[in-house]
Amino acid sequence: MGGSIAGCAAALALRRARVEEITVYERAAVRLADRGVGVAVHNARYAELESAGYLDTSIPFVQIARSRWYVRDDTAPRSPLGREIGVMPSPFRTYNWGLLWDGLYCRVSETTDFRPGSAVEAVKATPEGAEVHTDGRTEHYDVVIGADGYRSRARAAISSDARPGYAGYLAWRGAYSSSRLRDAELLAEDEGAYVLFQGGHLVVYRIPDGATGGHRVNWVLYSAPPPGLDQGMHTPTSLPPGTAGDGLRAHLAYVCAELLPSYWADLVRATVYDELFVQPVYDFTAPRHAVGRILLMGDAATVARPHTSAGAVKALQDATILETVLTQTATWSEALAAYDSDRVSSGHAMVDLGRRLGRALVTETPNWQTFDQTGLETWWRQATGTGQFGGRQLTR
Ligand SMILES: Cc1cc2nc3c(=O)[nH]c(=O)nc-3n(C[C@H](O)[C@H](O)[C@H](O)COP(=O)(O)OP(=O)(O)OC[C@H]3O[C@@H](n4cnc5c(N)ncnc54)[C@H](O)[C@@H]3O)c2cc1C
Repeated sequence: MGGSIAGCAAALALRRARVEEITVYERAAVRLADRGVGVAVHNARYAELESAGYLDTSIPFVQIARSRWYVRDDTAPRSPLGREIGVMPSPFRTYNWGLLWDGLYCRVSETTDFRPGSAVEAVKATPEGAEVHTDGRTEHYDVVIGADGYRSRARAAISSDARPGYAGYLAWRGAYSSSRLRDAELLAEDEGAYVLFQGGHLVVYRIPDGATGGHRVNWVLYSAPPPGLDQGMHTPTSLPPGTAGDGLRAHLAYVCAELLPSYWADLVRATVYDELFVQPVYDFTAPRHAVGRILLMGDAATVARPHTSAGAVKALQDATILETVLTQTATWSEALAAYDSDRVSSGHAMVDLGRRLGRALVTETPNWQTFDQTGLETWWRQATGTGQFGGRQLTR
C-alpha cells in the first residue's frame, strides 16, 4: 500500500528476496516524479544504502560539504547574509524528491504490478495472510506492507490508537530553479545554510533540477504560527502547493521582514504562490511495526521531525532490513517478528532525536546573538545527544 519512497523500496526488497508476485497500490494517479522538493541523505547512510543495493550514483544529487549558520544582527555592519556565527561539517547528498523516487521506481516498475490511481479502502488480517479492499474488489495476499504514509490505513488496521502528534509548529517549504536566485554566488554549491531566529529557523540547500539538469534552491522554514492559525492541524494534514491561506502567508511575510537577514528573506520571497506549501510538523512511532501478516514501513511506521534529516533514509533502511530478515528466516511469521523487533527500537530513537532537535531549533531556542563557533559546536553536541543526525547507522 503506497508507491512512494517506502513503497518502491519495499517492492525492491521483496524482489531481491525472491518474492514472485508483488502488487503496489498507489492512490495518486499523477506521476510522483513531479514532486520537486529536497531530501538530504547523510554520506555515511548513503554508503550503507549503496552497498545494500538500494541507492546508486545514477540518481542525480548535489554534494554538500558544510553548512554556514547565520543570525540577523541589525547592529553589525550590514551583510545581506546576516552575521555568520559558525560553520559546521554537513556531509550530505541532497536529492530532488521526484528524481529519487524515479530512480527507485525504475528499478521495480518492470517486475511489479504497479497500480497508480488505486486507493486501498481497507486492509484486514486473515489467518493465512491479509486482504485488501479496493475499487469494490477484495484481493488476498500472503503479506501486506503498509507504506501508505503518515495517515496510514494499514497502521489503523493493526494499531488503532497510534497516530501522529502535532509538534505545535509548521514547516513552510519551497523550491525553484536557481536561475531565479539573486546573487547566486552567495550560496555556494557545496554549502547549505541555517538561518536562526527566536522560535524557528530556515534551512537552505541546492538540489538537482530534473527539468534543466541544473540546480534548484530548496528551503524549509520552521516557525509556530500565531495562535489560532494552526487550528485543525492536530488532525494530520498538509497544505499542498498553492493552498496556504492569507494568515499563513502573512506570518511568513512577517518572519521574512522582521527576523531574517535580507538575502534569505528575498530567497524565500522569490517563491511564487503555487510553489509554496505548508506541512505541520508531527511525530510518532507505532508501538508495533508488524502484526500478523501486516507490516509497516516508512512514515506509516514512524515519523520523526524533519530536523533529523532521516525520514527517507529510514524508509530505505526499513526496506533493507525487510530483505535481510526475509533471506535469514524460513517463514513469513519469523521474518515479520524479526522486522518488528528491529524497527520499533529504531523508530523510538529517531522520534526522540527529532524532539530534542525541535526543542533546540524551534520551541526552546537559545539567545543566538551570543553564539560564536565554540558556542555553536557545544550547543550542537548537546542538541544531538548521542548523534545519529541524518539517520541511525545500519547495523544488520
Ligand atoms: C519538511 C520535511 C523535510 C524533510 N526532509 C527530509 C530530509 O532532508 N531527509 C530525509 O531523509 N527525509 C526528509 N523528510 C522525510 C521524508 O520526506 C519521508 O520520511 C519519506 O518521504 C518517507 O515517505 P513514505 O514513502 O513513507 O511516505 P509518503 O511519501 O507519504 O508516501 C505514502 C504514499 O502512499 C500513498 N497512499 C496513501 N494512502 C493510500 C491508500 N489508502 N492506498 C494507496 N496508496 C496510498 C500516497 O499517495 C503516497 O504516495 C522530510 C519531511 C518533511 C515533512
